[in-house]
Amino acid sequence: MSMFDVIIVGGGLAGLRAAIAAKESGASPLIISKIHPVRSHSGAAQGGINAPLANHPDGKDDSPAKHAFDTIKGSDYLADQDAVELMTSTAPSAIYELEHWGCPFDRTTDGRIAQRPFGGAGYPRTCFGADRTGHYILQTLYEQVVKQQIPVYEEWFVVSLIANEGTCCGVVAQNLRTGKLEAIEAHAVIFATGGAGRIYGRSSNALTSTGLGMSIPFWAGAHLKDMEFIQFHPTTIIGKNILMTEGCRGEGGYLINKDNERFMKRYAAEKMELAPRDIVSRSIQTEINEGRGFSIDPASGGSGGGYVHLDIRHLGRAKIMERLPGVRDICLEFLGIDPIDSPIPIQPAQHYTMGGIDTDSNGKTAVKGLYAAGECACVSVHGANRLGGNSLLDTIVFGKFSGIKAAQESLESKTKCRIDANALKMTLKQVEAHLQRMCDNRGNENPYQIKLELAKVMDDKVGIFRTGSDMKEALDKVRELKKRFKQIRSAGMITPFNYNLLWLLEMEGNLDVAEVIAMGALARQESRGSHSRRDFTKRDDQNWLKHTLASYTKDGPVLSYKPVTITKHQPQERKY
Ligand SMILES: Cc1cc2nc3c(=O)[nH]c(=O)nc-3n(C[C@H](O)[C@H](O)[C@H](O)COP(=O)(O)OP(=O)(O)OC[C@H]3O[C@@H](n4cnc5c(N)ncnc54)[C@H](O)[C@@H]3O)c2cc1C
Repeated sequence: MSMFDVIIVGGGLAGLRAAIAAKESGASPLIISKIHPVRSHSGAAQGGINAPLANHPDGKDDSPAKHAFDTIKGSDYLADQDAVELMTSTAPSAIYELEHWGCPFDRTTDGRIAQRPFGGAGYPRTCFGADRTGHYILQTLYEQVVKQQIPVYEEWFVVSLIANEGTCCGVVAQNLRTGKLEAIEAHAVIFATGGAGRIYGRSSNALTSTGLGMSIPFWAGAHLKDMEFIQFHPTTIIGKNILMTEGCRGEGGYLINKDNERFMKRYAAEKMELAPRDIVSRSIQTEINEGRGFSIDPASGGSGGGYVHLDIRHLGRAKIMERLPGVRDICLEFLGIDPIDSPIPIQPAQHYTMGGIDTDSNGKTAVKGLYAAGECACVSVHGANRLGGNSLLDTIVFGKFSGIKAAQESLESKTKCRIDANALKMTLKQVEAHLQRMCDNRGNENPYQIKLELAKVMDDKVGIFRTGSDMKEALDKVRELKKRFKQIRSAGMITPFNYNLLWLLEMEGNLDVAEVIAMGALARQESRGSHSRRDFTKRDDQNWLKHTLASYTKDGPVLSYKPVTITKHQPQERKY
């Protein structure tokens, strides 16, 4: 039985930043990750990270207050304004810290960190490393983890929390190499398990971004907040849904329909392609729905739904090679086209989970000793619609704060007895029995079919445009799938590298999180940010300027609500 001060579940940006902060605060942290940290989904982040550094000639007047305002307006006024102000005022020092640790950001001609325009931002404030920003930051933080000799259990999969009288005191994890389960004790646990995008079929997320990291805390008593707000990114390549970063439009790319028209003038005359993502995604979908998109030849095996063009040809070879080399590689590799010569066929797809585990700005959840940070958490700084470049910032700012706070808590509670050996053994046995039941299941249902049906219903019925009847259909379907999941035919025993078992455990979490998404969406009778209802087309501040909270019960999630924190900015109509 091992024991650490702080366990961090997740080796992406939020997890690594939390671990470094915990170590620097005097605690002994352990990182547990189901994959090697530098393979975490964060490494796929392309376009950049926001901070009001005012380095760009057009951004001289930028400030944390202006960054905060853009973020709040972008969130359709659902973000907690105190948390946003904390994030934007911390942003410059967080970026300089990364710079001092060696993160190779692109530079201006006079040697300062370069910045590019991004959607919904009043000034160019997105710092970047070509179109590989997440990769660079992840390597930078991992280097610090190695330097600080923070232990990492990689290819270990956390299955459950250990709790004693409502306090979290560790995790049960499976060592994927041996298949063995181990109880690992800690005075505090931080979940940094990323988003839940793979509940959807058309998603830009890595296959590792499933809902289990949100459901484990949910099952243990933490609340899930604002889960109905799912971001659909406007520009992913047709069929594969691999991201074409907002940096393409930030560098000057156009969106063009089949009539060769820059159609964004109809939807956001001022910001055009650089309107926030919710607006651009809806605009593209409207063009496609109204017949001004290109249609996908069903014989091509595409994911359906039509597409428009992202055109970066006019940027020229030199700029594309310098600023967007990864985008070009993806187009060559997956579409067989060179964006230097050809427009890129794109369509919107699921991209980001705005909601997550409800936390305060120190990452604290409703469960004592349990913290969360990064995309699995909801502080909330993104509200109903996240601005591009704010998620990487969220991971490093709130990852750090949660690491500091968890370390403090663990050092204060060190002397207290947490859980006796028998109770610990009992927990381990219960988890083992659950896994064994999963392996022994010999019903008639094919779990892979259940996964396909879940992805389809979420794509089709809880997508960019929503209606009450569609969402009701989705909720009924998810509940049916949950029942059918109990009757699966599974294949096997608890063995080394049993990825089938891991996948089944993830599915169990996916289904519960999908139910919360559909329930929250059906209940919210308004349109706000990414939640766009055809039957309630207006934002309704009178009744819905509030956060949705979902609590776990054995009979299904229960919804409640809590107020949004407003400091300076009263809700206004959003115009771009
Ligand atoms: C293609 C793409 C491009 C993006 N580009 C940008 C961008 O340019 N700018 C921006 O601001 N945002 C961007 N985003 C969003 C941003 O990348 C993510 O929100 C962010 O990186 C999430 O970081 P994280 O640390 O929370 O999670 P992740 O990086 O997803 O890490 C999660 C970690 O948890 C581990 N894990 C999960 N479950 C378990 C478990 N049960 N047991 C053990 N380990 C577990 C995983 O192994 C992994 O290490 C992009 C997103 C996508 C999809």
